[in-house]
Amino acid sequence: MKVKHGECKVPGCGKAHYSRGYCKRHYTQVSRHDRTTPERERGKARLCKAPGCTRTDCNGDYCRKHARQIKVHGRLTPEREHQHHAPICSYPGCKNPHRAKGLCSKHYGREHRLKS
Ligand SMILES: [Zn+2]
Ligand SMILES: [Zn+2]
Ligand SMILES: [Zn+2]
Repeated sequence: MKVKHGECKVPGCGKAHYSRGYCKRHYTQVSRHDRTTPERERGKARLCKAPGCTRTDCNGDYCRKHARQIKVHGRLTPEREHQHHAPICSYPGCKNPHRAKGLCSKHYGREHRLKS
């Protein structure tokens, strides 16, 4: 395949070269995932709007995972927040111990009943 000098080597991309043969966007994908994420190239699936999220199983603006976070918590709950925070309920203002899905037993029970 002929690659024009100074362009991204991903087929059909054509963006300006950034590093290691890729444009900035594809270089970021490759450095993060060790591959490009071709779902973005096809232009069919929409990329999740959550910062750093590359999922494309979107139903609206966010992927299913983040859409559920917004539905359950009313906001995005980044992974690092879960990891580094003490395991307490993520319900705004609630300090009860974590039980499941980021919520204390009281709020988890409430969400659970709402959903089912
Ligand atoms: Zn590219
Ligand atoms: Zn997402
Ligand atoms: Zn709670």
